Amino acid sequence: MKVKKKSLRWILLVTGILAVLGLTGMNVYSLYTLRHSSIEAQRQSNKLRVAEFADRVRYRFIKPFYGLGGLDINRLEKKFKQTHHFTHKATRIVSKAAKDSIFQNIYYLPAQSNTCRQGGALLQFNSQSGAFSSTDAYPRVLCDGLGIARTRMKAIINKYRYNNKVIFDSDHSMIIALVNQADNRVAGYLALPFNRKYLINKYLQPQLVKTFGTNAHSSLNVWLRNWTDGQVIASSNPALHFNADKVQFKQQFPDFFDNWRLYASFNKNPKTAASQHSLWINLIILSGAFIFLVGAMLFMFFTARREEALAQRQSDFLANVTHELKTPISVMQAAGENLADGRVENQKRLQSYGSHIYSAAVRLRNMIDHLLEVAKTDANESFVHRTPLAIGEKVRDYIEREKSYITENKGFTLETSIQEHLPEVMVDEHSLTTIMKNLISNAIKYSGEDKYLGIRLFQEESDIVLQVEDHGIGIEGKAKNHIFEKFYRAEDPLTAKTNGYGLGLSIVKNLINLNGGTISVQSSKGQGSTFTVRFPVMRKSTKDTNRSKAFSSVLKFAKSTK
Ligand code: ADP
Repeated sequence: MKVKKKSLRWILLVTGILAVLGLTGMNVYSLYTLRHSSIEAQRQSNKLRVAEFADRVRYRFIKPFYGLGGLDINRLEKKFKQTHHFTHKATRIVSKAAKDSIFQNIYYLPAQSNTCRQGGALLQFNSQSGAFSSTDAYPRVLCDGLGIARTRMKAIINKYRYNNKVIFDSDHSMIIALVNQADNRVAGYLALPFNRKYLINKYLQPQLVKTFGTNAHSSLNVWLRNWTDGQVIASSNPALHFNADKVQFKQQFPDFFDNWRLYASFNKNPKTAASQHSLWINLIILSGAFIFLVGAMLFMFFTARREEALAQRQSDFLANVTHELKTPISVMQAAGENLADGRVENQKRLQSYGSHIYSAAVRLRNMIDHLLEVAKTDANESFVHRTPLAIGEKVRDYIEREKSYITENKGFTLETSIQEHLPEVMVDEHSLTTIMKNLISNAIKYSGEDKYLGIRLFQEESDIVLQVEDHGIGIEGKAKNHIFEKFYRAEDPLTAKTNGYGLGLSIVKNLINLNGGTISVQSSKGQGSTFTVRFPVMRKSTKDTNRSKAFSSVLKFAKSTK
């Protein structure tokens, strides 16, 4: 039932944590998709703007020839053959276009003429007279454009239904083929070389700035660049250098400026930036929550395990103590019963019953003392009378008292080394005796064949160091971290060869803490152990010495000193 309840608690906890993580995760995911779609929408709208710009540039070249589509090319051709003049309407259109600074000049090449192929003169439009006159001072590159136009027209003329067709030669010229629809034939080509300086400096550059550079919110930057040589021709923000890594998309011009491309980069708009910001915040919160929850889970897991182990040790202790208490009581009960009956008269048997009752009572008393000691340190009611103590003398006296028990009764080799003239320490005498008693009895209890006990007392810097060494069974690495915990026994309580409750060292540690000292242990399995206790030497200022002499009051140390 308890196990079921416990696992249900864990399941609920894990489900709760997963739900929190899941919800935050979903939030992050939806913010991510929102951010992604708003970036995509911004990208599409920017793409459209740049594509529109390219179309507008194309329209800029065609616009001056507005009205050309309505002309009768058949009539124009006939008139031109006779007079070298176009019809009235056509002349008006061409005159208007000739004034446009984007074109250098306007030339005309009748379809049947071989001029460019043979390198002869072209017909150049004269705005004053409105007539075309022969010239060989024309840009040679124009012939490339005318060649391209001828080839293109040859391929499409049979299906072509309009009276003119505009063909571009990259960034050099624009050619308009005039189509005589009466017999599906090209009547001639108007050739218009571009005025490149004007085109770049007076048209493309200002147009880029006007279209993209002024709208601070879009922060769309567009560069016009020749991809063949990497040169930047114009840009919407001349202060900003072209950076290929920042380019988000490119745009070609429709059917002209073959070597030129528009390159665009844009910063996120405030909406996208805000969603990005909240995405980051959510991500940070999610990671924080994740780390915190995992940390909390681990903490709970380990605390639960520690508590379980403590509960187990307590129940082992209880079983142990019950047994230990019952045994001397049964002995006393049986011996007492026999004596009470009055049937035992033999002097020797009477003595034996008496000594049984006495040793059982001593055992009981020891155990009760132990338990009371623990209860006192536990309830924080341990009264420690710290007085200036000549520790050397006290340790020597204690050893003197216990010497015969250790060497004769227990068969130990005892080696002691106590430094002369040690300074005093502020330690409660009773505590010192309990500490020594427990450490020495442990050394005896946990020794096998090699019965050695070493006790050393010396000064090291500002500490007085007490060492108790044995050559006994030693302590495993893992157990070393726990031996000072209450109820901890390195041996399995069921199979333990030695008697004990796992309380001795916890009492020792508590008392040492209450006396302002520390304890540590060096030990390895099978090699023996050395317990080292340190107490700070009393400071010897005159004031202190006077005060310490008078110092014998009872000090109560709060648990916080542990
Ligand atoms: P107890 O001796 O009653 O079990 P203690 O608190 O005194 O309880 O000791 C805790 C555990 O530490 C012991 O069970 C024993 O395993 C280990 N231990 C203590 N002193 C020694 C020692 N001198 N040598 C080996 N093991 C020791």
